[in-house]
This record gives sequence, C-alpha cells and structure tokens, in this order.
Amino acid sequence: MLRRSLSRASPLLSNGLLQTLPLPFAPSTRSLRSLSSHTTPQTLNPSPSQEEESHENLRDSSRPTVSVSIDRSGLHNSPEHSHNPSSDSELVKHLKSIIKILLVIARALERRGHRHGEAVFRQSRKKDREEKEQKKERRCKSRDVEFEFRGGPISVAEYMEEVLTNPHSGFYINQDVFGAGGDFITSPEVSQMFGEMIGVWTMCLWEQMGQPEEVNLIELGPGRGTLMADLLRGSSKFVNFKKTLHIHMVECSPTLQKLQYSALKCVDEAVNEDGSTKRTISMLSGSPVSWHSTLEQVPLGTPTIIIAHEFYDALPIHQFQKSSRGWCEKMVDVSEDSLNFRFVLSPMPTPATLLYLRKRCQWASAEEVAKLDHIEVCPKAMELTHQIAKRISSDGGGALIIDYGKNGIISDSLQAIQKHKFVNILDNPGSADLSAYVDFASIRHSAKEVSEHISVHGPITQSQFLGYLGINFRVEALLQNSTEEQAESLKTGYWQLVGDGEAPFWEGPNEQTPIGMGNRYLAMAIVNKKQGVPVPFE
Ligand code: SAH
Repeated sequence: MLRRSLSRASPLLSNGLLQTLPLPFAPSTRSLRSLSSHTTPQTLNPSPSQEEESHENLRDSSRPTVSVSIDRSGLHNSPEHSHNPSSDSELVKHLKSIIKILLVIARALERRGHRHGEAVFRQSRKKDREEKEQKKERRCKSRDVEFEFRGGPISVAEYMEEVLTNPHSGFYINQDVFGAGGDFITSPEVSQMFGEMIGVWTMCLWEQMGQPEEVNLIELGPGRGTLMADLLRGSSKFVNFKKTLHIHMVECSPTLQKLQYSALKCVDEAVNEDGSTKRTISMLSGSPVSWHSTLEQVPLGTPTIIIAHEFYDALPIHQFQKSSRGWCEKMVDVSEDSLNFRFVLSPMPTPATLLYLRKRCQWASAEEVAKLDHIEVCPKAMELTHQIAKRISSDGGGALIIDYGKNGIISDSLQAIQKHKFVNILDNPGSADLSAYVDFASIRHSAKEVSEHISVHGPITQSQFLGYLGINFRVEALLQNSTEEQAESLKTGYWQLVGDGEAPFWEGPNEQTPIGMGNRYLAMAIVNKKQGVPVPFE
C-alpha cells in the first residue's frame, strides 16, 4: 500500500542537464529489480594497494555498494496518532520524565497562586491523574522556582533532538544505522562516485581559493566516513592538494566516530619523542584528522571547505499549525494513561511561534504562507548557517550543502524511518531515524543576513551537480576495468544518484523508468565572494 501510493510515475531524468548530456548507458531494469528485492548486497573487489595507487579503481569491498535503499523524501506522516512504545526504554523514560515532572511542578505553582502555570499546556490532563501524583508533587515543591517557566509537553524540536542525539540513547549515538543492515542508505553508501565527485568540487574550490597551503576540510555529520574516504582516495594523485588538508570530522556519535576512524584508515602517531602527544593521521592522504562534536570546536583562522551531506535534515525542527486561535505549535505530550506519546497543539502561540515562525515568514511572500496550514521551521539550521557564513567570511573558502528538500517554506515533512520502512514518529523513540526536508531558501537568507562577504549559489539538483562535475565520464572510466558484476553495480549506483524519482524504495513505477535521488536532493554552495562563483554553479 505504502509502496504503491509512493510509486508515482516520474519523467525520466526530467532535469535540464541530463536531458542534454549524452548518457553513458541505458538504465538497467535488472539491477533496479535486484535492489528492490532486498537481496544480499553485491560488492566490488579491488585490492587496497591498487585502490590507493589509482583513483580510477573501484573502492573497498568491505561495505555494500548495492543494497536496499531509501530516498527519504517521499512521505508525509499523518500527525495525529497515539502510539504504544513496546516497553519503556531509557530514552522513553527520559522523555516522559521531562514532560511529567515539569507538569507536576507547574501544577504546584498554580495552586500556590503563581500565574506562570498558565504557560503549561494542561488541557489534556484530568483530575484523577492529579490526585495520583499529589505525592510526587509534594516532593517537587522545593524545586519550584528552578523550573518556574517550563513544563508540560515538549516541542517537536526538543523531541527530535532527544531522539536523535541524546548522549546516552539517541538514535545515532550507539549504533551503525546505515546500509542494508541498518535503517537507511545515503548517496556515499550507494556509490564511490558520490564522494569522488565531492572531491572534484573540493579541489576546484581550492584552486579558486588560490591553492592555499593549509586548508581545514570539515565534514558535518560524516556517518560511516564513506564520503570522506572516497574523496581522499579520489584526490590522492593530486599531491599539492592533499598535502594541504587538515581534516575535521564534526560528529556527535562516539560509535560513528570509531567507524570514521577506520574508514579513513587512521593511525595515531607520536608528535614528540616521549610519545606523550599524539596526532591522528589518515593513511589515505597522510592528512591529520581530528574529531569535534560541534562546528564551533573546529579552530578558526585557516581557509576552510565545509561539506554537509544529509546533515541539515537531522537538525531539529519546530512544527506550527494554523488553528482558529491563529498559528500554534505542535507539541509532544504523554497520554492520559502515561503509556503513549501523542501530539497536542499549544493553546496559544508559543515563544517559538512568535520568534521562529515570524522570522521565517518574513522571508516568504504572503501568498506562499497563505496557502499553508502547517509550517516547519529549523532554527538550528539558521544558527548553523550563521556559523558557516561567518567562518567562510573571515577565513575564506566555502561550504557545500547537499540534502533533500525544497527551495522554499517546508510544510509538513517530518518522517521516521526504521529498517528501510516508514514508521510512526512517536513509536519507540530512538529506534527510528527522524528527519525533515531542508528549507534551502531559509539557508540562503540566514547566510546572507550575517555577512556581506559571502555569496550563496543554488540550489541545483543533485543530478545537475554530479552531471556538471563529470560523473558520466567517471562511470565510463570505472566501467573499463570492471567485471560484469561490478559493471551492473556501477550502473545501478549511477542511476540511484542521478535518476529521477520520489519513491522511497528503489523500484521504478514501471520497468522502463529508473528512479533515484537525482532531483529530490539539492546542492547549494556558500562561498567567500573573493573566490567568485564556484563550480558548477556558474
Ligand atoms: N553524511 C553521512 C551521514 C548522514 S546521517 C552520509 O551521507 O552518509 C547524519 C549524520 O550526522 C550522522 O553521522 C549523525 O551522527 C550526525 N549528527 C546528527 N546530528 C548531529 C549533531 N547535532 N551534531 C553532530 N553530528 C550530528
């Protein structure tokens, strides 16, 4: 049912670029079928030594290059649901404790005559529950003042942040969530060509920057480290470029940091004779590598290139809904029996409504806003963009953002994916990925509002971006030296990256139509104006 409703017919490569460029081969129906049947991943098998010698080679075989994949762009969840978590995980207990304890405190305040209790959304509470919790209330009174202005349902943004990045049990924190055995697959995991093309972009920008002797190459949210590994392998012949690199991985998950360490073939080497100071080097490029949990922690003062692939979609969003009381905020609450989570609407505009929704709407036309009953706003994306723009403005360089989304206000896109299937957002928090469409127009406005020394380019489609950078030539070069099985895999990967489609599963609506991430994923660049217009946004 889900598959059928999502498999809308889509024109073959409907974007301008790939209609005009000659395609190296026709889409392979067989390979698309084999993907959708969830078979064992096929692999490519070069020896590691060959691979490092030549960027024409195929990448490491230790991870799947063909596997079940999801373009997380096609589904809008129905919001008004109540769900039964199977058992209370640590994260569920934590979420409930935030919502419930603060409610109890707020009630205590109200009874004592504080009107701040008004700020708490109590409409869903019944008297019998209040009585049950009177005991707890007494215990909490001593801390009333500390929590005076908070309580009750939490915003969707708070929920999303806890679910994804809670330091103990967030979705990303303790597990490898990528690939066929995980929850979803991303472009770098689909084909080595993706990271290689980002490498081409990075080298072009470095040229435009005047070939600085040192460059901070920062990746935000590197997942398994696959993109960076393919970028470094692909650029390994360009000695002058690779010797300038200082790699900075911005990653909140200790588990994924370890995977990135091994993907980059890192070693720790002593900096001084007694071995008391060490640095980490990637054997793929000889570059120093360091890890940070936020962009702010990356030292300033060096020309910078930033890559953010599928990072913005994981940043927490607020959801607003038009009601008879005006625009209110959608919140996450526990149900009356305390077993489930559910969505409730704030009885009045929240501070986030006044601040973030108002700000976002200032960047849109009245007609655009009037058409919508739901709006999503991502203040963290605005803050991150401010940081990126300021950094690029002061240090030179540029940033590349690739994600699925739209060049305008996003309405209602939050989705949860577990084991390659869409699930309910409030089910078993921490067991499914939550992500939302990226609002590229908001990124553009956010960048421009903090600096006049930067320029913003795009978005263009992923298909255009990869096409202009030469993915057609790259796939042809790789096909020259491939076995039949590898060739099949390369072609499939190619179509997944540049093909058109909206469905979350790699299954075209009919046998002739390939689908892929080519048009739903968009690329945008923010660069220091000194560099001129970046390739391929001219
Ligand atoms: N870029 C990778 C992974 C995308 S998934 C790819 O395309 O395959 C999102 C990545 O961002 C994960 O590595 C996740 O752990 C990381 N992440 C999510 N939220 C983060 C945050 N607030 N701070 C740092 N890293 C974060």
